[in-house]
Amino acid sequence: MISEKMTQLGKKRSVIRELFEYGNMRKAQIGAENVFDFSLGNPSIPAPEIVTETMLRLIKEKDTVALHGYTSAQGALPVRQAISDDIINRFSAEANPNLIYMTCGAAASLTISLHALINQGDEVIVLAPFFPEYRVFAEKAGAILKIVKCREADFQIDFEALGKAINSKTKAIIVNSPNNPSGVVLSEASIRGLAELLTAKSKEFGNDIYIIADEPYRELVYGDVSVPYIPNYYDNTIVCYSFSKSLSLPGERIGYIFVSPKVCDCETVYAAVCGAGRALGFVCAPSLLQYTVAEVLGKTSDIAVYEKNRNILYEALTDYGYTVARPDGAFYLFMKSPESDAGAFCERAKKYEILIVPGDDFGYEGYVRICYCVSTEMILKSLEGFKKLYEEYR
Ligand code: PLP
Repeated sequence: MISEKMTQLGKKRSVIRELFEYGNMRKAQIGAENVFDFSLGNPSIPAPEIVTETMLRLIKEKDTVALHGYTSAQGALPVRQAISDDIINRFSAEANPNLIYMTCGAAASLTISLHALINQGDEVIVLAPFFPEYRVFAEKAGAILKIVKCREADFQIDFEALGKAINSKTKAIIVNSPNNPSGVVLSEASIRGLAELLTAKSKEFGNDIYIIADEPYRELVYGDVSVPYIPNYYDNTIVCYSFSKSLSLPGERIGYIFVSPKVCDCETVYAAVCGAGRALGFVCAPSLLQYTVAEVLGKTSDIAVYEKNRNILYEALTDYGYTVARPDGAFYLFMKSPESDAGAFCERAKKYEILIVPGDDFGYEGYVRICYCVSTEMILKSLEGFKKLYEEYR
């Protein structure tokens, strides 16, 4: 008998994937240019030139046996040193290469961190709306997932609800800012409030409560918005970072875990991270990618296109009458469905060849997610459909 749980997980396709497949079918039937596929968060702008140049140079110039050989399980030391320096320089935070663990992207960073922290039956809090894979990762690690909804008015933290959700079993809270699916950046006031609340609750229950900061969208922010660096506000923070979105490299699978030196008994927590990485088989992240990212830290793809897309969509949709959470980052827009059943609204949108995802899977009913990491041309072509779709509800 094989694992029933894993079989079910493997068979169950996410709503997003279903929609993506539907989109491919429609593209084959009516032409890709006539389908407005806003379903998947796959970066639409190329990786910066410097990434390709660095990779080619490394392949040509570096000793290929060393380049393609195993690095240390936790990642090559010079790479971890470069990342540590970058954290110190960019965020004025304390860092140390011996507290950095290279991973295959944020998904691996999250699942390793959760396995490192969780004992069976511990609770992990997620702030809705949230990336649906959190449930899979947390439950696989033995945790019970607790959902706390953000305030509908601005998608910042609802501290009253969060305070009630924390108890003696709370081990961690996953914080994702800029957020998938809302695009909202948590304000400095929210992060300060969170730090205060967790400090008070840790004392009250006599347990350390960790923030797992899931940060694949850190660099994707628009205008003069800044994203507070959580280790500077709360000591027990583990950062799960990924280069998937900032460098448009999601298929290459590269990221890291950073255990802040301020974490209580940080060396033991890091040892647990190394142990979880080992137990899960996530050792020695792809070496070419490790060496590449170490040379391009702080660089991003040209995100001006995303900002332009955000502006066009946000302005048009609010003008038609939709209610939209104003996104300051990532490449998602979270829009209130004009009918309470967001799934029914998404079905209706298909009439106009518009593919958008109901918020239910993100723990937030009555909303839909629109990924705008697509061509500006496609967005402009889709607007008429969005307008007509809204008019159906007048
Ligand atoms: N966390 C969030 C919020 C995401 O949106 C994603 C991917 O879309 C991930 C984690 C996983 O990212 P990665 O490709 O780095 O595994």
